[in-house]
Amino acid sequence: MKLVIGCDHGGLRVKEALLAALSTRPDTAVTDLGTRTPDSVDYADYAVEAAEALVEGRADAAILVCTTGVGMSISANRFTGVRAALCPSAAVATKTRTHNDANVLVLAGESLAPAEAVQIAHAFLDTPFTGETRHARRVHKLERASRLSEIAHLAAADPEVHAAVRGQLAQENATINLIASENTVTRAVREASGSVLTNKYAEGYPGKRWYSGCVPVDTAENLAIERAKRLFGAEHANVQPHCGSSANMAVYFALLKPGDTILSMSLDQGGHLTHGSPVNFSGQLFKIVPYCVSRETEQLDYDAIEALAREHKPKLIVAGASAYPRVLDFPRFRAIADGCGALLMVDMAHIAGLVAGGAHPSPVPYAEFVTTTTHKTLRGPRGGLVLCREAFAKAIDKTVFPGLQGGPLENIIAAKAVCFGEALQPSFKDYARQVVENSQTLASTLAARGFHLVSGGTDNHLLLVNVAKRGLTGKDAAAALDAAGIICNKNSIPFDTNSPFVTSGIRIGTASVTTRGMRGEQMRMIGGWIADILEGVADTSLQARVRSEVAALTALFPVP
Ligand SMILES: *Cc1c(COP(=O)(O)O)cnc(C)c1O
Repeated sequence: MKLVIGCDHGGLRVKEALLAALSTRPDTAVTDLGTRTPDSVDYADYAVEAAEALVEGRADAAILVCTTGVGMSISANRFTGVRAALCPSAAVATKTRTHNDANVLVLAGESLAPAEAVQIAHAFLDTPFTGETRHARRVHKLERASRLSEIAHLAAADPEVHAAVRGQLAQENATINLIASENTVTRAVREASGSVLTNKYAEGYPGKRWYSGCVPVDTAENLAIERAKRLFGAEHANVQPHCGSSANMAVYFALLKPGDTILSMSLDQGGHLTHGSPVNFSGQLFKIVPYCVSRETEQLDYDAIEALAREHKPKLIVAGASAYPRVLDFPRFRAIADGCGALLMVDMAHIAGLVAGGAHPSPVPYAEFVTTTTHKTLRGPRGGLVLCREAFAKAIDKTVFPGLQGGPLENIIAAKAVCFGEALQPSFKDYARQVVENSQTLASTLAARGFHLVSGGTDNHLLLVNVAKRGLTGKDAAAALDAAGIICNKNSIPFDTNSPFVTSGIRIGTASVTTRGMRGEQMRMIGGWIADILEGVADTSLQARVRSEVAALTALFPVP
């Protein structure tokens, strides 16, 4: 165990006794943080140093001594993850270990004999946390409360914006989020994205910036680049695009001239706005040849895509979608592109987390360009990423900056680095696998209640439910579910006869609920609620009942 010990002038006598006694404990490496003289010093300096050592993992436990112990306790307890307990006896020290999982022992230098202090310290260090459910739950709750302190300055400075942030937090805690393009990021991702890196202008790339003072942001951006390349096995990564749309724009503008032909999946079939929708720059600047799914299978018809490619000879083929529940056949797309001399871009915005976790095949070996968002299944901050072959690296970098953007959002880039680091952990593989398993459990629950799933099921994190076959519009279905605390979105289904504002389907995704810790049992409950609500969309008392059951469930799976 790594133990740090600190005191102010009021705790010096007791600390010297502790150092002498504890240095003989087996398996305990003791570090003395000071003070070492009777001169007056500030207790907060020692408490903060000890707390930082704990938070940063340089220490497993700490002992702090000042005259009454109060100043040290208050200072140390300001840190998330630090639980400092002022203990007057060995019995209290034992209890604060078993009950509170305290990691800092605080002692009052004025009221303890050195021998007593040593006895209390041994009791503290010898006692493990029981891990008993009720104690663990209480410790978890007190640690979670520190999330509100994250926005304490906002509360004081701007109560109106603070209310909006609190509102989002309350919503996330009381509802089930099935928006397929959303996720729930870790605190580490949020901390990086809310960090002081937002203060920095960094036009250019690491080592080649326009302004001085870029060493810290260069560190963050280089980490993001290296980790993105490692995570996806890519030759080159540009981590600066502000969003998925600008990542796509970067590839188009690096390769194409206005009027060039793109073969892509149209929006109403499951594609994305930036894949050539007439209301988007992509549809206005380029000649778009849309491909579709088969009417019978509702899955991509690769033979038909191949025929379109031969006929129209596009310069670029875009694969990837926002509402397609099946595995994409990247080798086949590569063959189609080669057959007509096109370049291939895969937009993996939705499935990037599944690709990172090995739950969907990777497009990287097959495509010259892979673009993505970082905030969907990949579970990072809102942002974009372009991966490409080395041969296109210069062209992509030049197009992103200075071609399309000015200064990059270095705080967000740092958060991308954190996200990529998390996705490189072995546990992310379990996460990605569980996302798909949950989606399939939800799909089979709904299918068993007679709902038609577009394409017959799902291979990934999302499903599209055809609600028109049950006499509903997507708009009414999503509104009824919203009233019951289940948040999803209306979505066009292939060959939809309703307008995009009404639609015939809803899209449901499991990335967020899986992050929250939900598994098969919860998916069956949620599927049952969705079916109940959709079978009685006008039943407001049913909606109210489900809403309270939903809140009871989500309370067990709090937002990190
Ligand atoms: C979400 C999405 C995007 C765009 O992401 P933004 O960050 O909203 O610009 C691009 N392509 C696909 C396939 C998407 O699903």
